[in-house]
Amino acid sequence: MLPVIALVGRPNVGKSTLFNQLTRSRDALVADFAGLTRDRKYGEAFMHNRRFMVVDTGGLSGEEEGIDSAMAEQSLLAIQEADIVLFVVDCRAGLTPTDQSIGNYLRTQGKPVYVVANKIDGANHDIAVAPFYELGLGELFPTTATHGRGVKSMMAEVLDTL
Ligand code: GDP
Ligand code: MG
Repeated sequence: MLPVIALVGRPNVGKSTLFNQLTRSRDALVADFAGLTRDRKYGEAFMHNRRFMVVDTGGLSGEEEGIDSAMAEQSLLAIQEADIVLFVVDCRAGLTPTDQSIGNYLRTQGKPVYVVANKIDGANHDIAVAPFYELGLGELFPTTATHGRGVKSMMAEVLDTL
């Protein structure tokens, strides 16, 4: 069994862009398993000398109240099956209440979580990333998923914890 890394976060923060960056590092074997897992997209990745599975999710919308309803079922399942969770946030949008509730939920799950501070392009990293320390989830990795910037060094650190 390959280790599983799940990408979770609000819609539109860059999860699928990051998924593509991670899985393009090899001839990605991307499978949409019918039925059971149709809302999660799996891809095989190879980086930093490690083979692993990446799971993309549709995103957790902030329309609903409370984390139970806010967390889409497939994201919950992706978190459950993950060895590591990459919690993607959008530095352009800043910290939102939905980020807070996702963060609160993740803290109860006992999984290693890393915050991917995405869309850092053009910004001062320290300033753009600072609000997300409030999530209380530890280390933040600034990335520009569209250009793959920050992705390799983040994965080197993350994969070393496996
Ligand atoms: P998802 O809904 O979380 O899967 O987000 P997507 O990967 O579909 O990205 C949503 C939008 O944000 C797309 O238009 C991406 O091109 C854009 N995007 C993703 N990453 C970055 C980034 O690092 N910088 C900027 N400026 N845009 C990004
Ligand atoms: Mg997506």
